[in-house]
Amino acid sequence: MLWSIPVAVLGGTVVRIHVTFLLFLIWLGASYWRAGGQAAAVEGVVYVLLLFACVLAHEFGHILAARRYGIRTPEVTLWPIGGVASLERIPEKPGEELVVALAGPAVNVAVAAVLLLVIAGGGGGEDLTKLEDPGVSLVARLAGANIFLVLFNLLPAFPMDGGRVLRALLAMRRPHSEATRIAARIGQGSAFLFALAGLFWSPMLIVIGLFIYLSATAEAQHVALRDGARDLPVCAATVSAVETLSPNATLDDAVDLLLRTSQKEFPVVDGAGRPRGLLTRDLLIPALRDGGPSRPVIEVMARDMPSVGARAPLETALATLNSTKAAAVLVLDDEGRLVGLLTPENVGEMMLVRGARPDWRFGRSRPPAAGPWRWSRGRP
Ligand SMILES: [Zn+2]
Repeated sequence: MLWSIPVAVLGGTVVRIHVTFLLFLIWLGASYWRAGGQAAAVEGVVYVLLLFACVLAHEFGHILAARRYGIRTPEVTLWPIGGVASLERIPEKPGEELVVALAGPAVNVAVAAVLLLVIAGGGGGEDLTKLEDPGVSLVARLAGANIFLVLFNLLPAFPMDGGRVLRALLAMRRPHSEATRIAARIGQGSAFLFALAGLFWSPMLIVIGLFIYLSATAEAQHVALRDGARDLPVCAATVSAVETLSPNATLDDAVDLLLRTSQKEFPVVDGAGRPRGLLTRDLLIPALRDGGPSRPVIEVMARDMPSVGARAPLETALATLNSTKAAAVLVLDDEGRLVGLLTPENVGEMMLVRGARPDWRFGRSRPPAAGPWRWSRGRP
């Protein structure tokens, strides 16, 4: 991910810190310094670092619970507004989602309980005098913050933990997509309330509101996409009219195609119709700067492109597109010859059509056929 720095690997999960989080720490330290000098700045920054250690422990609660169901988590990122664990997928079984969603807040309940025991162990009567002691007040503040984390995360604002709990509970009685739609709407509504409260209270709430709104919308779209793709083969959403390049084509030929068509990705296909790689616009333009237009495309193209069979379920292909973040997935026939490309844009268009006409039968007008490959030089 751009702008985030990997700091550690814990049990196969990369822990990243977003640059804005470091800026937030610097800003925080500076404002404490201005208010109370060096000691106040150090205490303020130490407190926030401990608080975010609790946030990280919360995320690892989710991560370890998800691992029980065979779900890996490649990375977790710390932002100024909290942690985001990128689970490979969200469990579809409501019972499993419930456990994964509750595991995060459960960690903060445990941390708060331990801290409260530490405070109680310090002696009830001495607490009032010891509150002046920065060590004790730090523990008390951390305990309070963990209780706040539990309550805040359990608000039913999807996709926060409380929203996931709500969706899981709803999905036990009704279809998953409907449960998501309801939970996402409640999440979007809460986001507006957050932003509204932020106008009077703290600008941070506006940022959190925006984050919740965007995440709720994205999750609802993701589930709608997966439901829309159900029961469809890959060829239903494949762009089959694709201009290709031969392995001995040059960057000059690629530029011709780029300008002449609306395509941004060009498969490089050999004489037998088998793909050798993919030349994208993002690879082409820098290569033009570095070398000449006579450079062969085969030196510049991306190899090891994700591919999928034309008859495979569309759901699988969408998962590949999502997990690899590739610009396109190569669609192949049974002999490994290129049939076309699956791009996010085309999948989006298919979903628009399916939204307008749910009874539409995809793929009937477009039988997957390999070649003959159109590849021409020069503008018409
Ligand atoms: Zn959580």
